[in-house]
This record gives sequence, C-alpha cells and structure tokens, in this order.
Amino acid sequence: MSDFLALAQTGVQQLSPYVPGKPVDELARELKLDPASIIKLASNENPLGPGAKALAAIREALDELTRYPDGNGFDLKAALANRYGVQANQITLGNGSNDILELVTRAYLAPGLNAVFSEHAFAVYPIVTQAVGAGARVVPAKDYGHDLPAMLAAIDDKTRIVFVANPNNPTGTWFGPQALADFLDAVPEHVLVVLDEAYIEYAQGGDLPDGLEFLAEHSNLLVSRTFSKAYGLAALRVGYAISSPVIADVLNRVRQPFNVNSLALAAAGAALGDSEYLAQSRELNAAGMQQLEEGFRALGLSWVPSRGNFIAVDVGTAGLPVYNALLAEGVIVRPVTNYGMPNHLRVTIGLAEENSRFLQALGKVLARG
Ligand code: PMP
Repeated sequence: MSDFLALAQTGVQQLSPYVPGKPVDELARELKLDPASIIKLASNENPLGPGAKALAAIREALDELTRYPDGNGFDLKAALANRYGVQANQITLGNGSNDILELVTRAYLAPGLNAVFSEHAFAVYPIVTQAVGAGARVVPAKDYGHDLPAMLAAIDDKTRIVFVANPNNPTGTWFGPQALADFLDAVPEHVLVVLDEAYIEYAQGGDLPDGLEFLAEHSNLLVSRTFSKAYGLAALRVGYAISSPVIADVLNRVRQPFNVNSLALAAAGAALGDSEYLAQSRELNAAGMQQLEEGFRALGLSWVPSRGNFIAVDVGTAGLPVYNALLAEGVIVRPVTNYGMPNHLRVTIGLAEENSRFLQALGKVLARG
C-alpha cells in the first residue's frame, strides 16, 4: 500500500492544520450543555449578528441559486472601487481574505523562495507559505508586535512576500503611519508587501495608517481586507485585495473561477453601504474593549493593548487549563499556545452581557487556582 502521507509535498507533510475556535455546537455535544447557554468569544466574530441590509440582499439573491455567481464580481468590485477611490481592475475578491493570502503564495512563492513574517503573526501565513514548499523567515516580535526594521533585515534575495498585519491577530498590536511609510520605502521593489488589514474598520483613525493611501506610491503593496469582522459576514467567506492592476491580474490567473458565491457577493455589497451597522459595530467594540480592560484590571491581570475586536490577556499561569476550565463554564475563548503565547488567552469582544459573563467565569476559574 502506498504511503500517501509520504507522497504529499514535503511542506504539506510537515503542516499542522489551522485550529479554529471551538464551535458552540461541538462544546454543547461534548459537555451535554444547552447551546443557548454557551457563549463563544473565540473567532473574532461580530457579536451584533448580521446587518439587516445584508440579510435583505441575501433573501433577494436566493431565487438565483441555480445560476453560477458572477465570476468577476462586477457589482461588488464597482462598489469597492467607488468607496475607496480605486479602479475595479485593482481589486481581487477572495473566499474570505484567507483566500487572498493563499492566492499570493501560489502566485509568488515556490520551493527555494521565502516569505518573511513576524513571530505571533496570524497563523495562516506559515500555513500558506509551507503549503507551496517555500521557506518561512519568522522574525522575533517586539513587545508582541511586528519589529518592522528586523523584518526588513530578514528580507533576502529569495524573499518574495512579506506579510504584515495591522492590527495583528492574535496580539492586537499595530504600527503607525510613519513606521509603515519607512518600511515601504525600504522594502526592495521585487518583494510583495501583503498588508493584512482584516481589522482595519475597527482600528482606523488616530495613529492607524490606511494602507490604501500608500498604494499609489508603492506598486509592490497589496492591501487585504475582509467582510468577516466589522461587517459581520464571517460565514459567507468574502474578502478582497487592492493592489496594482498587474498583481490583480496575476492573482486572477490562479483564482478559482467562482471563488465568491452569489449570496456573499450580494450581502457584501449591501453591507458596504450599511454605515449604520458599521458605526454600531465599532461603538460596541470600543465599549466592550473598555469593559474587558477594566475587568482584567480588577482581576490583577495584564493584557496586550489591542486595536482589533479581541484582546490577548495574560492569565498569569498556563492558558490551556484556564481555557478548558472556561469551557466547562460554557465560555469559549481561544488559547494561543500555538502562537507562542502559552500564558495568554485571546478573547473576542462580545456583547456587554457576554463580556461580563466571561469576566465572571474567568475570575471564578482563576480563584480556584
Ligand atoms: N487576517 C487576519 C489577521 C485574521 O485574523 C483573519 C481571521 N481570523 C483573516 C485574515 C482571515 O479572515 P477571513 O478569511 O474570514 O477574511
């Protein structure tokens, strides 16, 4: 019998699959709990539920389910182009922004080439890099955040992609406009900078740069965004990249022809125009962040300051047992041991009552020691 593990590409053989947040139904089955009694603050989902406009657009699109979606996503690209002042031919739509991250590696990496990214960076970067047999140059973080000068120094003549997340997941750390400008000015022109702005709608303003403002000056920049977070459409899987038209053309060659389904296209277009929902999402997030920080302070815990819709808290002991004890309380958060943060747990900002239930459960679990 052939060994189909040994036959897989070397990089794939050594891959560990992405570990998602535990689904509510899974925990309910395992612990025989009522799913309604469980709260999930584990996948950086929007606690508001989907917006009314997105839902209405989905209902309208249902009648066309026998048809293939518009493989070019004309309407959504037009809406994005209009919203962000770019050309439609600069946009690549993805099945979630994870799809974008994979497309760039398939287009630009291969064995013998490498990608640069930070320690504690989003777990999909190493996976997509390794899946195509390319090397990973992982740069030690600084205060949990990206050390951009060190990342710059890690680039060599075999580097084709550098992944930077702003803010980063799971740390929530960010860098400012000047740091980004200096970085982009110094990155060699043959290296594609993938600026992952999955959480930018939460983070924008103040000292957070808008990656799109740097596109005109830097033809090696690709900005990746998503409808999964502040726009509340994680289940539909829709994200996008904005880059130069040349890069968009290259990605289009490796993209599956119908990678974004018609319900996702319709909902994303509607969500983009729902400024009320977005404002509400941001407001809820800011209030929830404050609530959690106050709760952590009261428990004597420290945390990594975050500009996302989640926060990594140092529970002062190994995170995994605390995570498991929280599960028993019907509270799902995310252990981040696999991100090299064994004493932290990452908690998504939820509704006020979910946040307080989590804080209460955390206090109870930690008090038990
Ligand atoms: N980038 C970052 C930094 C993320 O945290 C996530 C979601 N966990 C993604 C990209 C991908 O999200 P999606 O595929 O849902 O757009």
